[in-house]
Amino acid sequence: MQKLVTFKKFTSITPTAPISRGQHGFRAKCLQRLIRMGVPVPRTVALSFEAVQGIAGGRMPDVGRLLAVFGDEPLVSVRSSGQDTAWGGPSAVLNIGMNDSRYAKFCETLGEPAASALYLRFIQTYAVRAAHLDAALFDPGTLEGRAAVQAALQAYETETESYFPQDPEEQLSGVLRSMARAWQSTSARLLRQARGAPSDAGLGLVVQEMALGVGADESGAGVIQFIDGVTGRPQITGRYMSQSQGLDALTSEGRALFLTRDARGRSLEELCPDLFEELIGHGEACRTRLRDETQLEFTIAEGKLAIIDAVVVPRSSRAAVQVVVALARDGIITRNEALLRIPPRALNEVLHPLIDPETPRTPIVRGIAASPGAAAGKLVFSSTVAQTMAAQDEPCILAKRETSPEDVRGMHAARGVLTERGGITSHAAVIARGLGVPCVVGASELSIDKKARTMRTASGDVFREGDLVTIDGTAGEILAGIVPMLEPALDDAFETFLSWADDVRDIGVRVNADTPQDAQLASRFAAEGIGLCRTEHMFFAEDRLTAMRELIFTDLPEDRAEALAQLLPMQREDFTSIFRIMAGKPVCIRLFDPPLHEFLPHDRQGTLELAEALNRPMTEVQRRIDSLREYNPMLGMRGVRLGLTLPEIYNMQARAIFEASIDASAVSGDVTVPEIMIPLVSACREVEIVAARIEAVAQAVQAERGAEVSYRLGVMVETPRAALRAADIARHCHFLSFGTNDLTQMTYGLSRDDAGRFMASYVRQGVFPEDPFHTLDREGVGELLTLGAQRARKVRPNIVLSICGEHGGNGESIAFCREAGFHYVSCSPYRVPLARLSAAQIAL
Ligand code: PEP
Ligand code: MG
Repeated sequence: MQKLVTFKKFTSITPTAPISRGQHGFRAKCLQRLIRMGVPVPRTVALSFEAVQGIAGGRMPDVGRLLAVFGDEPLVSVRSSGQDTAWGGPSAVLNIGMNDSRYAKFCETLGEPAASALYLRFIQTYAVRAAHLDAALFDPGTLEGRAAVQAALQAYETETESYFPQDPEEQLSGVLRSMARAWQSTSARLLRQARGAPSDAGLGLVVQEMALGVGADESGAGVIQFIDGVTGRPQITGRYMSQSQGLDALTSEGRALFLTRDARGRSLEELCPDLFEELIGHGEACRTRLRDETQLEFTIAEGKLAIIDAVVVPRSSRAAVQVVVALARDGIITRNEALLRIPPRALNEVLHPLIDPETPRTPIVRGIAASPGAAAGKLVFSSTVAQTMAAQDEPCILAKRETSPEDVRGMHAARGVLTERGGITSHAAVIARGLGVPCVVGASELSIDKKARTMRTASGDVFREGDLVTIDGTAGEILAGIVPMLEPALDDAFETFLSWADDVRDIGVRVNADTPQDAQLASRFAAEGIGLCRTEHMFFAEDRLTAMRELIFTDLPEDRAEALAQLLPMQREDFTSIFRIMAGKPVCIRLFDPPLHEFLPHDRQGTLELAEALNRPMTEVQRRIDSLREYNPMLGMRGVRLGLTLPEIYNMQARAIFEASIDASAVSGDVTVPEIMIPLVSACREVEIVAARIEAVAQAVQAERGAEVSYRLGVMVETPRAALRAADIARHCHFLSFGTNDLTQMTYGLSRDDAGRFMASYVRQGVFPEDPFHTLDREGVGELLTLGAQRARKVRPNIVLSICGEHGGNGESIAFCREAGFHYVSCSPYRVPLARLSAAQIAL
């Protein structure tokens, strides 16, 4: 066992030394674990966050004493050790301690080429990193060996007017100082903040004895991991290169060896079978003891193996799920720990669709694949517009020259992000990956004009705001129009993982699904039922829109009946398919909600087409459109107000629902008891009237079909008054579903379609802690939820309570609903897996 050596500012890493991740960083802690496991780790000293901060501020520790840990002729490396691997840090510096006299000795013991490689590498790194000289000056060009070393020393002397430092203490001080200061630079800070680090995140450093990787017997360096970082499946991958150091094997593929015998070409397994076996053993031990998949950086020094570093294998979200499931299945971690290790938003990446590989594709422009998945939508050029579109449920692609922190909300709202500038670590790329939004950056052939709201390609094509585009964040391509996509392959590990989440969560998760296609998706995501079927979305298809417009244009009840007779079979067909797909699971259907004018044309051309279709004069059509126009349609004739004014629509819908439930159960045997929900209620009397009409339709259908009709009636609580009057309302219904989109809008008096314009500024100034349309406002809207729930329960203790606004997929909002004793949340299909995982994490 190594001796414990603790100095004030640095600590020699031994099995018992006081090393913690919070003070010395992940690398120091991990190396200590390896040492405890008996893995051959070269001697290592850790510098704490505090020590490194001191170094940046000019307080250098006693470097002489530090180096004494490594003997008389120290030769060391320095690596960064932040609190979280994802936050980055300055890259490693090797061979500190190389000087003219070590060089001369190594020339004798290791041979001149190896000695020259060691010295040259250090001179180059030191010159650029510590002395801040231009890297180009130290490019050896055609020079090799001793000549290259001499040229580098000469270049250093010419530039600095002093000889290359020979004293290891001076060298180490220079390296420590440069790494400590690099961490504090503005660009490093911004980058790590974009990766989620706090502004005051600390950096630790580890100083480690060099395991040389060059020498007489087999010597070299390599990297090994035991899973594929993309799929997460077991697979030995990595490289090894004789007579090399650090990560050379990964960057000089030509000379590097594969690791296993079954790979093409020569392998480490053939070259050093015993050491290869030893490596596999260390890998297995690390998986069990470090309880994760690790990547080992190793050196073979004169026939002996040293492990110089172990980091968790970088992995895609899909792989992350695969890994935690395998670890839990092998009993290394518990299922609950597996659930807690995956942030719900990481599932976004697994869930994104891919462009169908069979589709011929001609990208309009290529860029850098920055965040995987494909997405399609209308092109927008500002975050504000992206937020407005999202509020209207309109998919959009946000295109910007580059993004800045003000754009995060817009990026969150957009289905995909595209930038003209930037690389893989640009703000757009980092944030998009964090949000799980597909993203292409650095599409430099584009010219984006924010003012003109246009995007011009190299070939001169111009795309305008509203044009449809598809982006492929996996391939880094942008395509015109909407391209066919494949739904993600949800593998066994993913299903298993979410089934574990279902085992522990104690709040239901349903889906907002409007069409049979949505219902299909919902069953793949294992939603427990449909919590909101917005029936008006069924009328947007071309043929249905015409029938709907005819309905809107009829004045006489008999004409209206004719138009409704056209719509009835369409609705019935949709509901029948949905009931069949949901196979007996609950389906909650909301009666027609939006103002009628949403179904009318918005421009002259559309009006003309409608006049032709209806065979009516253009002026009459225009007059009708004008008569339906409202000053504030969101607070106008929509929801139940429309239902009361034009009862035929709700009656037709109720009939379609009842007939469909009879038809669907006759075919499949699964009985669906439909839930019918009345939107935008503000007065109890509204519910009484609609409830009576629906019951009359139920009786009629029952009599006509000779089959029993059962259903449950519910009310959407979307106005503050409905929440306040929940006791009265609850007397007339079985369930209440809080529509938190409208309820937020009406509680704040804040238009859900326009708030995007100033939301960023409001959040920045701390007026709202978060956008209340994303994260439920616990204090205001939340109080109405609690109040409504309490009042409703008083008169009907077993009333079913839920939310179905966008908040249903948001972890914090789910936590609120759980605390308030709600039965389920309902959210859009792709958020169902996130909601299932969030709900599980909340329950743990
Ligand atoms: C709501 O208002 O929360 C809701 C779910 O309904 P919509 O978004 O359709 O208005
Ligand atoms: Mg609503």
